[in-house]
Amino acid sequence: MRYQNTYVNLDTRLYHEQPPTPLDNPRTGHFNTQVAQQLGWTNDEDLMTNWVEILGGQYVPADFKPLSMAYAGHQFGQWAGQLGDGRGLLMAQVLDNGGHPQDLHLKGAGLTPYSRMGDGRAVLRSTIREYLCGHALTQLGIPSSNALGFVVSDTRVRRERIEAGAALMRVADSHIRLGHVEWIASFAPDVLGEFTDYMIDTYYPECRDSETPVLAFLTAVVERTARMIADWQLIGFAHGVMNTDNLSITGSTLDFGPFGFMERFNPAWINNHSDHTGRYSYQNQPAIGHWNLNVWLPHFMRLEGVTRETLADCLAPYEATFMQHYQQGLCRKLGLPHQRESLTLAFEWLTLLEDNLLDYSNSFRALLGLVAPNEHPHEQQLLSTMTAEFNNEALEVWQNWSTRYLTQIKQLPTEQAIHDMQANNPVYVLRNSMAQRAIDAAEKGQFEEVNRVFELLANPYSVQDIAIDLDTMPPAPHAPQMPISCSS
Ligand code: AMP
Ligand code: MG
Repeated sequence: MRYQNTYVNLDTRLYHEQPPTPLDNPRTGHFNTQVAQQLGWTNDEDLMTNWVEILGGQYVPADFKPLSMAYAGHQFGQWAGQLGDGRGLLMAQVLDNGGHPQDLHLKGAGLTPYSRMGDGRAVLRSTIREYLCGHALTQLGIPSSNALGFVVSDTRVRRERIEAGAALMRVADSHIRLGHVEWIASFAPDVLGEFTDYMIDTYYPECRDSETPVLAFLTAVVERTARMIADWQLIGFAHGVMNTDNLSITGSTLDFGPFGFMERFNPAWINNHSDHTGRYSYQNQPAIGHWNLNVWLPHFMRLEGVTRETLADCLAPYEATFMQHYQQGLCRKLGLPHQRESLTLAFEWLTLLEDNLLDYSNSFRALLGLVAPNEHPHEQQLLSTMTAEFNNEALEVWQNWSTRYLTQIKQLPTEQAIHDMQANNPVYVLRNSMAQRAIDAAEKGQFEEVNRVFELLANPYSVQDIAIDLDTMPPAPHAPQMPISCSS
């Protein structure tokens, strides 16, 4: 691997160098060979032979520089003060095969100075959810952290019950969160200049070409965040805990807790049970992204040339970037050109989904069964399942809508429309029930279902033989939501 451990050269107040605390008898959970190849991990015999010991915290390769990072954050809209890596360590920074920076971060690695009341550990259940979700989003084409693999162990961890400790080697383009800058502003304001230079040079080097690199950098963070959240909306993903300590400066999805993929479409859906006010509901995500950036940006006024007015200019493109990306994506999902008529149809379609509590992913995919039935038997089946749920009123709305839709879709060459629909509407997303089945088996020591779901999600846009009916089955329309524990 090509190491580039630069964080350790920054001001020492920003981190604490320390090794992981070993887990007891770590064992293979899963290994992501594709990620390992991309990192160059597979070319290193020492890393390949000892990967379980490395993830179990029992062996630290000489080129690694493990450290915990300080950061702060706003949680559920309130200033939470110092947080930091309480159970994860930045193990190494490397350049991947494409020359892009990647962090290796071991989550569940034991106590750090930032552990506060926690035990420094992660349980198997939440580790599997994070592992499968990072993989799912990556394969869906959405910027996200992913993982090299995970291990399970005999270390006992107390949550609502006693559970097995696990550890995940998270791979992300950066682990710098909005909350890093918030920490600096409160506890070490003199390093803000140095840290901003580091963020630009490492993650946004193209901004150096600007006459005002800091403003170019801030604008780019705003735009990338807006695009990521538009991607989430389009795929039906709800992060669930969009605190400023969980948002990366690179606009890449980070930190998976009680996340969810939309099943029965309800824009007001709250996937996080401890989110009593619905602050992080599906439909609030775009506004919360803006809220987070708005509390983050003013810290940069400490830097020369940054004023309230120039910061307003950095934040201004947020809404337009989001809308552009979201509306374009919505049209692609429907195989329509990006035009006013298409958007009218798109929003009517979403209303039909909402009024009839239809499954978000299946319904979009089902339209291929309408547009090109002969080539899409699976989608034809989805379409009949969907229309079977309609009452007379819904059937009338559907018939009217689908007639106009089939006229509008002729605006694009058929091949392009079908390609756009296939490439933007997954057959498989990580439903909570799927993750839970994999977890239940893994907790009994059986990892075949983790494997199968992993393989399925590797190609989410194609119908696959290894799928079972449950993979595309939404819960019943008014079924109570599956409880996902917030403890992890
Ligand atoms: P999260 O809710 O996972 O984003 O974590 C919020 C903060 O709590 C971060 O500073 C974490 O490092 C810390 N934290 C979460 N769980 C634990 C734990 N079991 N032990 C120590 N710190 C934790
Ligand atoms: Mg977090």
